[in-house]
Amino acid sequence: MNMDLFSLTGKTAIVTGCNTGLGQAIALGLAKAGCNILGVNRSLPVETQQQVEAVGRKFVNVEADLTKTECIPHIIERAVSEFKHIDILVNNAGIIRREDAINFTEEDWDDVMNVNLKSVFFLSQAVAKQFIAQNSGGKIINIASMLSFQGGIRVPSYTASKSGVLGITRLLANEWAKYNINVNAIAPGYFATNNTAALRADEKRNQEIVDRIPAGRWGTSDDLAGPCVFLASEAANYIHGYTIAVDGGWLAR
Ligand code: NAP
Repeated sequence: MNMDLFSLTGKTAIVTGCNTGLGQAIALGLAKAGCNILGVNRSLPVETQQQVEAVGRKFVNVEADLTKTECIPHIIERAVSEFKHIDILVNNAGIIRREDAINFTEEDWDDVMNVNLKSVFFLSQAVAKQFIAQNSGGKIINIASMLSFQGGIRVPSYTASKSGVLGITRLLANEWAKYNINVNAIAPGYFATNNTAALRADEKRNQEIVDRIPAGRWGTSDDLAGPCVFLASEAANYIHGYTIAVDGGWLAR
């Protein structure tokens, strides 16, 4: 097999929310595989920029709040003006709000849905228009969740948004495969990041989670970089609309 299939040399990847956690590991993984990175963050991700530059790639940040879609045209303009082309989009930015469904507020519903689903759709749409204008095809990778497959508890808008991410991943794949655009998703299991700090701080809940993971440990952000590089590469050219669980076996139980 030709291992160049996995090379991303000279490609441009947009990665949302890459100042920390999974997004940071994804940006670095893609950079190591050869990509220049356009980060979309609420503030300059200094550490990520240093890490990407340390492996010899370029990093440009666009400051944007993905609660709103107004920032999207600027993200595309900046990526094209800096790098001339866009090849990969990773919709990683996401938030979670925890409260019993009976008390859940409309604000906690809207905030989560706007970042986790609405902006994912409209940024994907804008990037796909660019892929079509370039006549290049491209890769879109959405970050889903175990709660794309399961109900969860006390996170109603998160479950709705991540179930929606799985659904639009399929829909967009159906519509855009004809343009050589691959739309897929990665569903991380339980990863040790800010997003799960509250769960890990609860000793009982933490133990219950670890006991249920066949791999017997929380995922580390690096566990996600390889699957992301794979989906971003030519090796994944015939994969459309699939959500890959990277979960230490959680869903297999
Ligand atoms: P994290 O450490 O909390 O990082 C989330 C990222 O999203 C941060 O860069 C954050 O930026 C950014 N973000 C949040 N709201 C934003 C907004 N309005 N505009 C722009 N950026 C925004 O969480 P993580 O665990 O790495 O999560 C990354 C993705 O993986 C999320 O989609 C999450 O749902 C998903 N996921 C995580 C796990 C897990 O176990 N950790 C499991 C399944 C799925 P700020 O630093 O500025 O807030």
